[in-house]
Amino acid sequence: MSRVVVVGSFNVDHVWSVAALPRPGETLAGQYHTGPGGKGFNQATAAARAGASTGFICALGEDAGGQLARALATADGIELHELRSDAPTGTAGIYVDRDGRNSIVIGPGANAELSVSYVDLQREAIGQARVVLGQLESPPASVAAAFAHARGAGALTLLNPAPADAVATPELWAAADAITPNETEFCAQLKRHTGAVIDPDKLAALADDELHADCRRLLPHGSVVVTLGAAGCFISHADGQWRGDERGYYRVAASAVRAVDTTGAGDAFNGALAASLAREPAQAFAAHVAYASRYAGLSTERAGAASSMPRDSEVRARFG
Ligand code: ADP
Repeated sequence: MSRVVVVGSFNVDHVWSVAALPRPGETLAGQYHTGPGGKGFNQATAAARAGASTGFICALGEDAGGQLARALATADGIELHELRSDAPTGTAGIYVDRDGRNSIVIGPGANAELSVSYVDLQREAIGQARVVLGQLESPPASVAAAFAHARGAGALTLLNPAPADAVATPELWAAADAITPNETEFCAQLKRHTGAVIDPDKLAALADDELHADCRRLLPHGSVVVTLGAAGCFISHADGQWRGDERGYYRVAASAVRAVDTTGAGDAFNGALAASLAREPAQAFAAHVAYASRYAGLSTERAGAASSMPRDSEVRARFG
């Protein structure tokens, strides 16, 4: 039963490394590479490599992108539950400049076609999960439907509210046992839900009791895990929410790593957190976050997103 089901997106990423981001009307040459992406697929890959039996509910096109997703899922032992869409598989066009800044255009394609009725058909698969993990790159009503089935079967629901500009429906928000925003996503959601404005660059420096109060306003009924990059993360629980974890709020430090590429660190964190929660549900929440933090830290030592996800054995060999 240590199963994770991820409901989310798959994209084919087209990445150009350029000296400077192109201006309107400009034509530039750059180094090109392509590979798998999408928050859902990245997180499913992390969950599988972190050792969880993993299912991935997604929508793919009848094209080369769909074939890539199937081949990669097979290679990582991920069980695909795919809606086959007439729309093209999701794509992302990404320019990265020499300072690591990027401009991204996403073509949701098939991802936007992931329907509530298809998710409802996967009720049995969802019922086998101990943890169901979703993001906001798929229709929120479909993620909410997956969470409703998960809760009906006693599974834990984790929502990674990313990307920051995407909106979660009230039903989805209410169905999340825990949310895992980064600084930008936390501030965007806090503004949307409460009107409060906080500068994401100043979030990590807030006093713990202030940050806890903001987390409680954002998700009164559930846990909030704010990831703060190299500053680690901040955890805030609702009263009495997590047995074996008596402290209501605390920080977990990031691992000491030589980060070369932090793309996908959040996805690594989410997949590993879900895998750890599914594997050892009786453990204190802090121990799961510590594992996810080590896992995500190690992922930053390699270039790439899905392809750079470490295996559980590598995390244990590195950090014990
Ligand atoms: P996102 O990729 O969504 O912006 P973060 O940058 O907050 O997410 O990273 C997620 C987690 O990955 C952090 O909480 C931390 O555990 C780990 N991490 C990210 N960057 C580093 C880093 N430079 N050094 C160590 N750990 C890191």
